[in-house]
Amino acid sequence: MALPAPNKDAVADNRTTMELGKVLPKTANVIDGHLFVGGVDMVELARTQGTAMYVYDEEDLRDRMRQYRTAFDKRCENAGVAYASKAFLNKAMARIAKEEGMHLDVSGGGELAIALAAGFPADRIVVHGNSKTELELTEAIQAGAGRIVVDSITELERISRIAGELGKVQDVFLRITPGVEADTHDYIKTGCEDSKFGFTMRDDFAFESVLAAISAENVRLAGLHMHIGSQILKLEPFAEAIDVMIELFARVKEACGYEIDELDVGGGPGVAYQAEDVPAVIDEFARIVTDALNASCEKYGVAVPRVLCEPGRSIVATPGITLYTVGTIKNLPGIRKFVAVDGGMSDNIRTALYHASYEATVANKADQPRTQIVTIVGKHCESGDAVVLDGSLQEAQPGDVVCVFGTGAYCHSMSSNYNGNVRPAVVFVKDGQARVVSRRQTYADLMACDVD
Ligand SMILES: *Cc1c(COP(=O)(O)O)cnc(C)c1O
Repeated sequence: MALPAPNKDAVADNRTTMELGKVLPKTANVIDGHLFVGGVDMVELARTQGTAMYVYDEEDLRDRMRQYRTAFDKRCENAGVAYASKAFLNKAMARIAKEEGMHLDVSGGGELAIALAAGFPADRIVVHGNSKTELELTEAIQAGAGRIVVDSITELERISRIAGELGKVQDVFLRITPGVEADTHDYIKTGCEDSKFGFTMRDDFAFESVLAAISAENVRLAGLHMHIGSQILKLEPFAEAIDVMIELFARVKEACGYEIDELDVGGGPGVAYQAEDVPAVIDEFARIVTDALNASCEKYGVAVPRVLCEPGRSIVATPGITLYTVGTIKNLPGIRKFVAVDGGMSDNIRTALYHASYEATVANKADQPRTQIVTIVGKHCESGDAVVLDGSLQEAQPGDVVCVFGTGAYCHSMSSNYNGNVRPAVVFVKDGQARVVSRRQTYADLMACDVD
């Protein structure tokens, strides 16, 4: 896979770090030309602890969780906000979510195991996945997972059987694809008809499946679930999809008198990846969701269900940054300037995968304007291995510390050991303190599973 052609029209924006708008973590600050986050000098942290490194602004993380909870609590009773752990999870993150009163989405046995090991209450866990294994379902039911999101009739039957064998009744959601198109990248659209996820509305399949779930043994249909996609900046499709769902609630009530208690509206809104991006405000997202819910319930004459949502990106993307050290620089005048760092597609696959865009700064020149257009590339054996394509940056030198903003979601969780690269450490910073919450892997970790 090659890089996309250089953008000949790109012009350096001359912004300094503090002019990067909504991509900055809450506590970002520049002192004597150095970038600080959580009161910690990122240059010193990079130089003493080694790079590549993921850093999270803990105050920003907690603040976003609180914003979600407050925004829903003031508008509805008993709302649940589940952090979608696939965006980023380790034990420290699960503990923060627990402390902040969140629920937790997991997608399979591995994330469930991490959550349980961190002491996350099982009854606040929602289990996802379109192809959960027998073992994963058994683990979830045995652990007492609060909700399992059922993705197919085959799975409904499996859960019913396993719960029966374990002498339990499992609360479930049915995942419905409401047939609403969201304006986002094709790879992360999920609510349209042509999706591997969930029950289609076509040919009344979703309706029939809900009735099947209501009459299935050993499960209780607690609610319905929808997820229209990720990195959605225009929020109207949420209201459209909610209307489709509530109409289904009403049809079910009419057909068999069963009132479905809960509606899970899926992931949260998109975030700013570019300095000029204006992301949805969390409170605005909650307002649109709850207004749509109330309006549709009135329209179809059903009681307003308990609402759940499952934000991932809008909680962790912006508080998280990646620090790298510049290794080499290759200038091809008239073509491109490459700034090569000590990480790349192994710690951030999103740029190679879908040409995601990020803002970057030289953390030790953070007060200087970004006067150049460069492509920040990684150290991997792939031409497409880039972190930032045609982005503004200060004039960089080998040894400089480069900070890439907005990498808190779907970078660590999609990281790999490609080229035998060890996964970076994860460091939480707060009030001038840095704590390593996942240590950098060692070469021994790379061989830990090998059998001699
Ligand atoms: C990915 C995902 C989420 C989180 O989406 P964000 O855009 O990160 O908020 C929530 N629910 C489900 C089912 C998902 O697959």
